[in-house]
Amino acid sequence: MAHQEANSFSSLSDPWDREHLWHPYTSAIDPLPTYKVSGASGNRIKLSDGTELIDGMSSWWAAIHGYNHPEINAAAKAQIDRMSHVMFGGLTHEPAIELGKILLEMVPPSMHNIFYADSGSVAVEVAMKMAIQAAISRYGSHRKTNFATIRSGYHGDTWNAMSVCDPVTGMHGAFGAALPVRYFVPQPRSRFSGEWNPEDIAPLARLLEQKSDEIAAVILEPVVQGAGGMWFYHPEYLREARKLCDRYGIYLIFDEIATGFWRTGRCFAWEYAGVEPDIMCIGKGLTAGYLTMSAVLTTGEVARTISEGEAGVLMHGPTFMANPLACSIALASLTLLNAQPMADILSNMEKRLNEGLAPARELTDMVEDVRVLGSIGVVEVKQPVDVGRFQKECVRHGVWIRPFGRNIYIMPPYITNDEDIATLTNKMTEIIRSGKWI
Ligand SMILES: *Cc1c(COP(=O)(O)O)cnc(C)c1O
Repeated sequence: MAHQEANSFSSLSDPWDREHLWHPYTSAIDPLPTYKVSGASGNRIKLSDGTELIDGMSSWWAAIHGYNHPEINAAAKAQIDRMSHVMFGGLTHEPAIELGKILLEMVPPSMHNIFYADSGSVAVEVAMKMAIQAAISRYGSHRKTNFATIRSGYHGDTWNAMSVCDPVTGMHGAFGAALPVRYFVPQPRSRFSGEWNPEDIAPLARLLEQKSDEIAAVILEPVVQGAGGMWFYHPEYLREARKLCDRYGIYLIFDEIATGFWRTGRCFAWEYAGVEPDIMCIGKGLTAGYLTMSAVLTTGEVARTISEGEAGVLMHGPTFMANPLACSIALASLTLLNAQPMADILSNMEKRLNEGLAPARELTDMVEDVRVLGSIGVVEVKQPVDVGRFQKECVRHGVWIRPFGRNIYIMPPYITNDEDIATLTNKMTEIIRSGKWI
């Protein structure tokens, strides 16, 4: 162990990096430590000092097949020799078309039109713009342009995406009046696999009844709230939300950027509720952690309504739209997914995570809750985690886990074998038990 500990310091906090590079949500003058990575393969991340870590994070939900996958690498190399990019204005290409065809077979059946965007946050921006353009076209009113959502959500870091993130744990405090004011209702408290409490939907029902002339859309992460709190709620909430949106002429946006591509145990989380959104955002796992790309999908009806509106077009068109390299990678990733018994793989991962995290449930003085869904395992602790300290322990134990707030969670790549899931959950529990994170 002493040897490993000494090793881990040589990959720790490169001085140039520390001085000049901003990492996600860090101080420029007192940043959290970073570990230098020299390579990654399968479910292993290799640090520059030779330390190997079992990946518990899939690089934030994205690297679903693990790293350096031979078939995805081959698709990327073949595409780069044809063209890595051409503009999507006035031009099109096979990777965009083939990816679109595969996607439409995987998403809710009413999805008909696809917009390729740059990142998850941009997908949320585009989805919100679609909802506003459609609402203006449908009602001829420029008032119906606001949004409603539930507390503890996370939808990204750009301006409008930020505005629908949780107002307390999100960025409303830091940006104050610069952020558009949205409508928030309490988070549903009925647990995913518990009993449905009809009271959960009452605040949304009241809000939409009172403000339907101002609200263009309700935006929700179906079933799993990710970065905002790692909370799994009852699918009945989505069915009720769908009914309310229909009643008041409000669009329903599902942000499946984190939940998509089997992460929750279904191809997409809407399947747990069986109700379809009008607009849907996907990202993260879409390109298997290789490149940044997202997509916004919508119904033929919404697409037509936008196109018949004042502007006549959807007002968005990024430079790198439908990047052929990213599309080819996504296509290879989805082909891999579709060739495997994903439902079985995920139900096995869920079982292993449940078994592995069971001992954490007994640490009742430190642990508030343990929850598992699909390949997501969460231990909610009672105190905020000292991330730097926790991660130092992780590296010492040969695992990569990045906690956030009071949630210590893993969502490993789908290629992770039972033994590695056991190691991840054991180390997670051991570090929590040690208290070396408080
Ligand atoms: C990560 C995430 C986003 C933002 O995606 P980026 O690619 O980081 O911009 C939006 N919504 C949800 C639910 C996410 O998990």
